Amino acid sequence: MKQMLVNRTPKETFISLIENGQLVEVFIEPAEDQSIVGSVYAGVVENVLPGMQAAFVDIGLGKNAYLYIEDILSKEALAKMNGIEKKASINDYIKKGQPLLVQIKKAPIDAKGARVTLDITLPGRYLVVMPHNDYIGISKRISDPEEKERLKSIAEGLVDAGKGMVIRTVAEGIEAEKLASDYEKLSHVWDEILKDYEAMKGKKGLVRGDVEFATRVFRDVIKPDIERITVLHEETYVQLKDYVEKFIPDVSGKIFYRAPGDYHELDVIECLKRALKKKVWLDNGGYLIIEHVEALSIIDVNTGKFTGKKNLEETAYQTNLLAAKEVARQIRLRNMGGIIIVDFIDMKLDAHKYELVHLLEEETSKDSMKVQVMGITKLGLVEMTRKKAKRSLSTLLEKTCPLCQGKGTVLSEESVLRLLAYRVVEVADTLQGSQLFIKLHPQVYTYVMKHESDYFSWVERHYNKKIVLEKDATLLYDAFVVEGRRE
Ligand SMILES: [Zn+2]
Repeated sequence: MKQMLVNRTPKETFISLIENGQLVEVFIEPAEDQSIVGSVYAGVVENVLPGMQAAFVDIGLGKNAYLYIEDILSKEALAKMNGIEKKASINDYIKKGQPLLVQIKKAPIDAKGARVTLDITLPGRYLVVMPHNDYIGISKRISDPEEKERLKSIAEGLVDAGKGMVIRTVAEGIEAEKLASDYEKLSHVWDEILKDYEAMKGKKGLVRGDVEFATRVFRDVIKPDIERITVLHEETYVQLKDYVEKFIPDVSGKIFYRAPGDYHELDVIECLKRALKKKVWLDNGGYLIIEHVEALSIIDVNTGKFTGKKNLEETAYQTNLLAAKEVARQIRLRNMGGIIIVDFIDMKLDAHKYELVHLLEEETSKDSMKVQVMGITKLGLVEMTRKKAKRSLSTLLEKTCPLCQGKGTVLSEESVLRLLAYRVVEVADTLQGSQLFIKLHPQVYTYVMKHESDYFSWVERHYNKKIVLEKDATLLYDAFVVEGRRE
């Protein structure tokens, strides 16, 4: 049972992929990344700057947008111009006061306006249509030369004069009919844009917003075997329903709105918290320990409480099988990339080793990222690689621990006190005043008050100074401050 859950808060859009009641993959787009890139605007040229080969275009946003000459002409046209005649000048193409239909290429940053282009692109499920650019391209991630040739000839057959398209990776193996229907829909979208633009009669502003992050995920992730898409945000639901009806009609009957308070099937927050933990429990009491060092991740499999009744080999084998399934799920959920080494429990039988590697291959094949399993070594280590993700779940949600600077350990309370004692001996004689003022992290303070009051009484008697201990929440866990004070 495959389900998708879409939620949106003022902070982000959050999409969870759920299989058999378990969270298997998450897609998160922070609100600050939800930009207007891809939206189409009607604008008017405010100013042409020949020196910069750019123009300012008023598109009805606060700041004027930038239009550079390379976003006016295609690369081919530019190369031709630059090669033969005098250098192309923006003045030859754009005039002040000229109305333009532009697409946002880069979002505005701080004081800088958005960067716009005349080369509009309309992304669909299988292809991207370029109404002003007669280029035909195939995704570089499709490697089979025969398939490339097939897609190219389909594209050439579809495209209208003057338009162009890029075939996306998901089009691999998809029949011509579906590509044609995608092209038709996008052509229709383009006609609508032109109609709306005309209806605006020279007014500046948004003509068509880009399909949201959620639809981008839909485009890439949704397969026909999805059984239900639940959207917990009404406005997003309306947008997605509309998108799905246009582009993925097969699933349009499977998308539903649910008020966030009415959804209780899976506690996503709890699942996420678990997906960040080092320790992952297996059903039989065994567990995994997941750790990362730079580009390498290490997963250690432990039998834990499960000692098995029969024999060691069987215990190891059963735990390893459970672990293999969980490892595949965890690397996908955590979006881990690079080299992953799994330290399985030692097994003697080759048949067991073979079965284990086989299961791991089978389980990781469900991943949308490519995972390669390299086989098992004599010590029971399995090396795997997974395509490097842009951001792992951990880098998306966590930061380096400020207490230990990512080391994972801090000085024990005893050691803090040990170092503090050295410092006190060092400075007690020289510090001015009759008071020794000591600041500690609140938790260390509590420990010291409970266990070490004898020590401080000794210092008070020995140096004839009154000790004043104080909590300071701004201190790092293992830091302290010693000062002398007059009463
Ligand atoms: Zn830490």
